[in-house]
Amino acid sequence: MRIGHGWDLHRLEEGLPLVIGGVAIPFEKGCVAHSDGDVLIHAVIDALLGAAALGNIGKLFPDNDPRYRGADSRALLRQTVSLLPSRWRIANIDTTVVLQAPKLNPFTDAIRANLAVDLQIDIEAVSVKPKTHEKVDSVGRGEAVEAFAVVLLESAES
Ligand code: MG
Repeated sequence: MRIGHGWDLHRLEEGLPLVIGGVAIPFEKGCVAHSDGDVLIHAVIDALLGAAALGNIGKLFPDNDPRYRGADSRALLRQTVSLLPSRWRIANIDTTVVLQAPKLNPFTDAIRANLAVDLQIDIEAVSVKPKTHEKVDSVGRGEAVEAFAVVLLESAES
């Protein structure tokens, strides 16, 4: 087995789209980013790359590369999955999104469904847990959104 951990944070500003796990969340603020700023998918990509020791998202998809301007992070996730050595398969993934507002609970099943499709695993193997930051620090003041992911790879040969 192999385990991988990923983390990401994006600043939030008024008038930008907020996309989390491929779902457009209605809100007055969104992520400042070179790509679509999908903080959760970026954490998942880093967890996958970490488990396979393939580097990190910035190395694979540089944020100064015009090809990734406004990029759909789901496409980057699918590309990452295609890079995983065939001797490993994804067993499960667990994630946490830290966002002061809005509440993400109404969207978690849609987010899980998107991740399950892109990771080619059962939705029961995909966990998404929203939390607030108790109104403290930058995330708690609504200035940023943060995401954590862990992924377990298991041998595809057993
Ligand atoms: Mg990012």
